[in-house]
Amino acid sequence: MPCWLCGRPMGKTIVWHHPVPKSRGGRDVVPMHPICQQTLTVNFSNSELQRHGMNVAGLLDHPNVRKFVDWVAKKDPDFTATITKKQR
Ligand SMILES: [Zn+2]
Repeated sequence: MPCWLCGRPMGKTIVWHHPVPKSRGGRDVVPMHPICQQTLTVNFSNSELQRHGMNVAGLLDHPNVRKFVDWVAKKDPDFTATITKKQR
């Protein structure tokens, strides 16, 4: 099962991410790389995540997320790094 955000195969660590935050009543989970979940957390507030819900295309429209996915595409599935808002 590929990662919900970047579409790469999963590595050793699978994060079960709630597209709609648990605190907002989200029940569905999707597999994600830790680094991909971190990217969402850094770039979106809980209300934005709730608004997009399962619509990953809407999240990929965000320029920072688009850049991240293009950048991470060639990395190993187990690759991790610290994602901050300042990343360009
Ligand atoms: Zn991923």
